[in-house]
Amino acid sequence: MKVTSIRGYHVGFDCRPALGNASTFIRRRDMLLLQLVAEDGSVGWGEVFNSPFAASGFVKARLAPLVLGQSAAEPWRLFHAMLGTLGYDRRGAGMMAISGMDMALHDLAARARGISVARLLGGALRGSMPAYASGPFIAEGPDPYGAYPAQVEALLKRNFRAIKPRVGVAPRRDGAVMQAMRAQVGEDIGLMVDINQGYTVGPAIECARRMEEAGLLWIEEPLQPEDINGYRMVAQAAPCAIAGGEALGSLAAFRDFLAAGTFGVLQPDMGVCGGFSGFRRIAALADAYDLPVMPHVFGSLVNAYAALQMGALLPERRGGAPMPYPFIEVDVTPNPLLTLLGPMDPGPDGTIAVPEAPGLGFDLAPERLAPWLTDQWRLDLA
Ligand SMILES: [Mg+2]
Repeated sequence: MKVTSIRGYHVGFDCRPALGNASTFIRRRDMLLLQLVAEDGSVGWGEVFNSPFAASGFVKARLAPLVLGQSAAEPWRLFHAMLGTLGYDRRGAGMMAISGMDMALHDLAARARGISVARLLGGALRGSMPAYASGPFIAEGPDPYGAYPAQVEALLKRNFRAIKPRVGVAPRRDGAVMQAMRAQVGEDIGLMVDINQGYTVGPAIECARRMEEAGLLWIEEPLQPEDINGYRMVAQAAPCAIAGGEALGSLAAFRDFLAAGTFGVLQPDMGVCGGFSGFRRIAALADAYDLPVMPHVFGSLVNAYAALQMGALLPERRGGAPMPYPFIEVDVTPNPLLTLLGPMDPGPDGTIAVPEAPGLGFDLAPERLAPWLTDQWRLDLA
C-alpha cells in the first residue's frame, strides 16, 4: 500500500495570559501537523515541534518526493532515506521535519495493520503511565509566582500526583516558592521544576541549593541547551537530577551530553529528535548509561498520543518518586489543540491509560482543526 498524499496543517493560537518561563513570555504557539494518506484512504498523523515553518518547507522540498509512492509499511527504511537528506544540518528544522514524517509513517503503518504503534514496535511494557502536570507558568507583573498555590491546588484536584512549575525568576525567590509548594502538597507528591534555559552556571547552582529542601525529582534545562560543560558543572553541584534533551535533535548530540555525565533524566521530544525511529535510537543509548528516559511533549494531541505509545515501550526506572519512571508530561495550560478530543487528565490513581486503538490511538477529522488553521498545503502522488 502506497503513500499517495502528504498534507500539512499549520495551526496555532494566542496564549492569554502569556505563559511565562525563565527565558520568555510565550504569547503564541504555532504547530505543524502532518497527515499522510495511503491509497486505501487510511491516514497517519505526525507533529513538528519548535520550528514548524522551516520544517514545512523541508517536507515539501526534500522529504515528500522520497515518501510519496513508497510503501506505507516501512517507516524504518524511510527514516533512513530521510536522514540522507540532512546534509550539514543534523539537528535543526530538517530533523524536526523528519520527526513529524516518521511519527505519521508509524501511525499509518500501525493503522494499516489494525494495531497500536506500541504493538507495531514489539509490544507495550505497561498499560498506563504516571502523569505529571507541566505548569503552572510564571505570570507577568510584580508577583510572578503569586497564583501558584491556587493553581497547584487545582492540579491536585485534577488527580495529578506530580507537578512541574516554571521557575527561574531569581534563585532566592525560586527557593522560597518551591519550599512553600512542598509544604502545601506534602511528601507524597512529586515536584520538579523547569528553568527553560534561563540561567548561567552560577545562578543555576545557587538556585538548586536554595530549592534542596523541597526534595525535587529534577531540575530541567537550567542552562542553554548546547552548554555541555556548564551542564556537567551544574549536575556535579546540584542535590537532585538535572533533566534535559528536549532541544537536542541528533543522535550525536545525545551521545556527547550523556558521555559528559550531564543528565540524570533524559527528555527527547519526538517532534524534534526523529519521531519514533529517532527516539528509539536515543533510548537505546540512554539504556547503555542506565539513564531514565521519557518523552518531552508540549504541543497538540498528536505528539501527546505519540508520547504515550513511546512511553509504553520504555523500561521502568526508579527515580526517587512514589511511582516509577517513565512519566507522561501533560500541558495543563489552556491548549485547545491538546484537548481537541477531550481532556488529557489522569485518573484517580494519577495515571493516564495508553490507548490500544490502532495507530496513535485517536481519530481526527482535519475539519476539526479549522478554528486554529493558519495555512495548509497538500502534495499528491502524480
Ligand atoms: Mg522543558
